[in-house]
Amino acid sequence: MKHRIVVLGAGYAGANAAGRLAKRLHPADTEITLVNADAEFVERVRMHQLATGQDLKPRALTEVFAGTGVQVKTARVTAVDAERKTVRIADADGPAEIAYDTLVYALGSTVTDHGVPGVAEHAHHIAGKQAALRLRATLAELAAGATVLVVGGGLTGIEAVTEIAEARPDLAVSLAARGGLGDWLSEKAQSHLRKAFDRLGITVHDHTDVAAVEPTGALTTDGRTIPAQVTVWTTGFAVHPIAAATTLRVSDAGQIVVDDTMRSVSHPDVYAVGDAALAPGANGTPLRMSCASGVPTAHLAADAITARLTGRELPQNKIGYSAQCISLGRHDAVVQWVTPDDQPKPAAVTGKTAARLKELICKTAAWSVAHPTMMLPTRRLRAVPAEARLTTAA
Ligand SMILES: Cc1cc2nc3c(=O)[nH]c(=O)nc-3n(C[C@H](O)[C@H](O)[C@H](O)COP(=O)(O)OP(=O)(O)OC[C@H]3O[C@@H](n4cnc5c(N)ncnc54)[C@H](O)[C@@H]3O)c2cc1C
Repeated sequence: MKHRIVVLGAGYAGANAAGRLAKRLHPADTEITLVNADAEFVERVRMHQLATGQDLKPRALTEVFAGTGVQVKTARVTAVDAERKTVRIADADGPAEIAYDTLVYALGSTVTDHGVPGVAEHAHHIAGKQAALRLRATLAELAAGATVLVVGGGLTGIEAVTEIAEARPDLAVSLAARGGLGDWLSEKAQSHLRKAFDRLGITVHDHTDVAAVEPTGALTTDGRTIPAQVTVWTTGFAVHPIAAATTLRVSDAGQIVVDDTMRSVSHPDVYAVGDAALAPGANGTPLRMSCASGVPTAHLAADAITARLTGRELPQNKIGYSAQCISLGRHDAVVQWVTPDDQPKPAAVTGKTAARLKELICKTAAWSVAHPTMMLPTRRLRAVPAEARLTTAA
C-alpha cells in the first residue's frame, strides 16, 4: 500500500510542500493529495492590490499541478483527528473523510479582531480573497472626499493604506498605528516612509489605539473619534481554529508547535508549515507569519519527510530572513535589509528600485508555486521499509 501524504491548504506553504514532495518521492511508493477550499491559488501578498481594483492572474490549482502526480481536491477542511489520522472535509458532494499516513497542515491564517468591538460588523479586511473583493466593491462606490481609515501600522497596514491612497487620490485616507510610523525600521527607511505618506496625502494617527469601530469611524482609547466611512482592519493575523480543536500541541495562539524539521512535537506523523506553524527561526526566535517564512518552512518539511521515508540524513534548519519588502503603491517601496532573526540593519533600498525588487519577489513567490519542482534533481527517491531507515532520520 502506498504511503498517503495529505497536504491541507494550497497557499504559498502548502502548494510548495506538495510540489516539492511530488518531485522528491517516487509515485510508486507515495500518493500526495492537496486539499484546498479555493480551486485557484490565491496570491495573498497582493490582496491590497485586488482590493484597489487591480486584477490578478487566475491560476487554477489543477493546472498548476498538472503532470506532477499531486491530486488536487477542492474542499473545505472541517476537522482533523490526529489520533485516527483522518481529515474531515466538505465539498459539493457533502461531507467525507480522508485518511493519511503523513499530514502537512498548511491552512494559513485570517484576520483577527483582537476582541475590539465593532470590527466584525463594521470593518473590512484584506486577509483573503473574498474579503479583498468586498472592500474593492465598497471602495468603488465611494464618492470623492469620502474618508477611509486603515487600522494597523504593520507591513500589511502600510501596504494597504498607500495602495488605497495611490489608487484613489480623491479620498481622504488615514492610518492609525499603535506606535510611530514604521518605527521598527532603520532611520533611512522611516524617513522614506514619511516622505511617501506626505506625497500620497495620508494622515497618520500615530501612537493611537483603536478601542471600537463604528459605522462612521473609530473610537480611540484616549477618547478621540477618527471619522471613517470605511475602516480597514489590518492589525495582524490569527490561525484557523481547526488545529486547536485537535489533540496536537498548539501555542496559545493556536499554531501547531513544531521542531526544527517542522514536525509536530506531539504527533510525529504531522508536519505544520507557513502561518499555521509555531516554528523556531534563527536564534530560536519564532518565525513571523509571512510568505518569507512559509516557502522555506514548506521546503524544509518536504525534505524532512523525504529524508524520513527514504532513510536519508535529515536536512538542516537554516531558515533566516534577509529583508522586509514593503510596497508603497505600485511605483515606490522600501526594502529593509534585516539580520537572519529579522532585526533591521541600517541599510535599506527605497523608491523605484525597491518597487522593482518587491515586484520581483512577489512574482518569484507565485512562480515557485506554479513551478514547484524546479531547482531539484529529477530523480525521484524510493521509500524504504520503516525498519531500514537511518536512525538519524527517525
Ligand atoms: C495584503 C497582504 C500582504 C502581504 N504581504 C506580504 C509580504 O509582502 N511578504 C510576506 O512575506 N508576507 C506577506 N503577507 C503574509 C502572507 O501572505 C502570509 O503569511 C502567507 O500567505 C502565509 O502562507 P500560508 O501558505 O501559510 O497561508 P495562506 O497563503 O493563507 O494559504 C492557506 C491556504 O489554505 C486554504 N484554507 C484555509 N482554510 C481552509 C479550510 N478550512 N479548508 C481548506 N482550505 C483552507 C486557503 O484557501 C489558502 O489557500 C501578506 C499578507 C496580506 C494579507
